[in-house]
Amino acid sequence: MKCSCGNEMRLVFYAPRERDYTFFWGCSNYPNCRMTKEYIPMSPKLDIAIQDTMDAIKILEEGGAEEKVSIINEIKVQMVDILNHFIDCTWGAHYMTLFNKMIIPYLDDPKVLQFVLNGPIIDDSKGNVFRGKSGTKMYKELYFYLMRVEAERIRDFLFIEFNRT
Ligand SMILES: [Zn+2]
Repeated sequence: MKCSCGNEMRLVFYAPRERDYTFFWGCSNYPNCRMTKEYIPMSPKLDIAIQDTMDAIKILEEGGAEEKVSIINEIKVQMVDILNHFIDCTWGAHYMTLFNKMIIPYLDDPKVLQFVLNGPIIDDSKGNVFRGKSGTKMYKELYFYLMRVEAERIRDFLFIEFNRT
């Protein structure tokens, strides 16, 4: 989506409170351009993390160009749920599908990842949790999964936060 100034708009993750977040469109030329737009979810609403995973993948693989862009945006907006379910899911075929088709190619915002890692999904009481430089929680196995994400920003964040040398 293009901003009125001509630059691309991108999805901005905003988490005012610990459990509370939203996405909106913001100009990629921020702070020079402060234009924002509301994100309108896909309709009908898909629950990509749990019920409608295969429907979302079908659109990714067989949909038209415009439909693909919409589903990729929706995957990014539902990434908190997708990551939470990936971490919690015990059905290998499902969590590997979420990981390979959605997390590897489309997880691109370290703030979204950090929001999930700081949330209740990483259970401190289990004893196999370690913490990064700013206190972010992590499981060892999860760390090696996440290092396979395509976005360099994610791997840079992981490296800086968890490099324990
Ligand atoms: Zn702009």
